[in-house]
Amino acid sequence: MESGEIRPNHEMEWFGNRVRESRYSLSEHVVRYLVEGKVSVQGIENVLMTGRVLEEHRNPVRSTSFLVYGTLGGQPLHVKCAEDVDHQLVVLFAYVPAPPVWDSPTRRNSLGGSEMAESVGTCFFCGGKLIEITVGNYLYRYEGQMCAVKRLPAALCEQCGEKYISAEVGRKLNALIDEKKFSGTEEANVIEFMPEVELS
Ligand SMILES: [Zn+2]
Repeated sequence: MESGEIRPNHEMEWFGNRVRESRYSLSEHVVRYLVEGKVSVQGIENVLMTGRVLEEHRNPVRSTSFLVYGTLGGQPLHVKCAEDVDHQLVVLFAYVPAPPVWDSPTRRNSLGGSEMAESVGTCFFCGGKLIEITVGNYLYRYEGQMCAVKRLPAALCEQCGEKYISAEVGRKLNALIDEKKFSGTEEANVIEFMPEVELS
């Protein structure tokens, strides 16, 4: 990040300015959490304007990312963000810190997460611990239609919620999708963001 605009100890000022100038972007991970009601844009902006840097995550390939702690209406919120190659602020993800990963909003669990669940790997995106779970609803699109895979075995990142599936599960899922093995239909709630715009 030698040509980066973030200077040591001035991260919060830089984050705050970017938010006030609306010069930042949100990752798909954040959008997913917005839709699920787990975080809000107002919360993220408030954390970036009034919070403090909790952790600095250095990465040999990608730029340094920052874990920022703040609150909105008394509710603690963590925002992970970084400066991208175009010197734009990108919000990688945001979540409410909670056990088992966090003992308190500012202190990690010294045991590193669930004591019961065995770690099955490390999250590529945030370095969090992966544990085995069964996903109730895994959503994807097929020929413009929203589809849900129910009871999908996956590895879940305890920290950011990213999910990973194994090669074996991937192959079986792919086959089921190809065979269109649908067991039922459900209604989906739709938000039309720009009704006046024609799709290209
Ligand atoms: Zn993660």
